[in-house]
Amino acid sequence: MATTALDPFKLIDIENATEEQALVLEDITKQFELSTQKITEIVQHYVGEMHKGLEKNNHTLAMIPSFVIGKPTGKEVGTVLAMDLGGTNFRVCLMEFKENTEINIKQQKYRVPDEFKTGKVNMLFDYIADCVDKFLQEIGYEKKNGILDLGFTFSFPVQQTAIDKGTLLHWTKGFEAEGAVGEDIVKLMQGSLNRRQIPARVVALINDTVGTLLAHAYKRHTDALIGVILGTGTNGAYFEKISHIKKLGTFQSKSEEMIVNMEWGAFDLERKILPITMFDNKLDRESLNPRAQLFEKLISGMYLGEIVRNIILYLIDRDLLFKCVHFDYSTFKEINKQWAFDTVWVSTIEADQSSNLDDTKIVFEKYLNIYSTSLTDRQIVKKVCQIVGIRSARLGAAGLAGVISHRGAIKTGCSIGIDGSLFEFYPNFEQRLKSTFHEVFGSDAENIHLELTRDGSGVGAALAAILAVKHA
Ligand code: ADP
Ligand code: MG
Repeated sequence: MATTALDPFKLIDIENATEEQALVLEDITKQFELSTQKITEIVQHYVGEMHKGLEKNNHTLAMIPSFVIGKPTGKEVGTVLAMDLGGTNFRVCLMEFKENTEINIKQQKYRVPDEFKTGKVNMLFDYIADCVDKFLQEIGYEKKNGILDLGFTFSFPVQQTAIDKGTLLHWTKGFEAEGAVGEDIVKLMQGSLNRRQIPARVVALINDTVGTLLAHAYKRHTDALIGVILGTGTNGAYFEKISHIKKLGTFQSKSEEMIVNMEWGAFDLERKILPITMFDNKLDRESLNPRAQLFEKLISGMYLGEIVRNIILYLIDRDLLFKCVHFDYSTFKEINKQWAFDTVWVSTIEADQSSNLDDTKIVFEKYLNIYSTSLTDRQIVKKVCQIVGIRSARLGAAGLAGVISHRGAIKTGCSIGIDGSLFEFYPNFEQRLKSTFHEVFGSDAENIHLELTRDGSGVGAALAAILAVKHA
């Protein structure tokens, strides 16, 4: 790879490194390196895994049919509700789609108290219904105006059997409400809405990747192909030909395409193709879900800081880092803690262009109580952040390139809607994706368009509701 000033893969030079520091760093760098050849192999493997997942259930790449059929045209009109459950806040919006892609949005956020996350599921959904009730009252919606169609973004693992039917496989993210696993989420939610006599009908259940793709397709309906999340976690959804989704059997539709939620975080759990380092293995072993979500653990915001921390600990233990730091019982107390190294700092350190690496110094002093680091220490840490960040972007690009290859979309061109802080804020992330596409596709990579797409759970869910009614 040529190393020009603009090269997003250029690694920092470390001044005054000892021979041993240089050797060990070179070895670690190699472990994180993905050659063009390796990327190409990963892309091919990804395509093969897509095929297997489309053929049968319970494959590593789950390739879950979303039952969202047809593409937004950008000409949708109508008023629908959207709800989003899956994080700290529950969100409800009323969306009025006007002509010329103008959308009038009214929305409100409500905190989900912990006692509802872990109590009986009816309590949780009744609470949500109460929030919707309050919201409709606040905005002055009257029942006589009719029953509103509702799109529900529910970002938990769901086995979907229709656009408005899906059973919860298991809770994640601190939710543990009793009586939901194995039950149809739409039925439970509708039951609560009915009990409160709320004029709303759940017509679409989707997850955040599907919503991201829909919101993106609304703006770029002609060539939208993939929706991706690059935030706390990572996942992707894309438009697939229904005839390719073999496991759907005799499913019939007038439309040719359906969105498939790949659940790509689980890619290569068998460890056949991804190069896994000892730093990744430590993270995985100590995680809440060992041996699960391998691809996600190499890419997403939740994990990058922890990988960097693991490398730093290794270097400290080999006596190759922070040698000048005054060392007493509390020096490494902070950095010894699991998850102590925030991915935001990896981002800050990569962005630090000062010759003295002042921002990097601040990270160690302010957040980790490690003082008097040397410039060489900081340069080493910056290099560590770079190799972890570069690998993340290159693997994300490999997954995306797999989808593009599989759909034969490189010549015609395609666009990808991306949501998440990693893509939005991590330095060079976009350039690294693009450069990797160039290695895979040559100059045809110019045909791939990337766009930040923020409102999957609002606009996306509302569009899912509109499409569901249209294709019912
Ligand atoms: P979510 O995926 O939960 O909807 P985000 O898209 O905001 O939320 O992603 C949050 C993740 O992104 C966290 O893991 C956080 O560490 C990481 N993150 C937040 N800000 C930045 C940043 N400036 N640079 C890199 N990563 C960031
Ligand atoms: Mg998000």
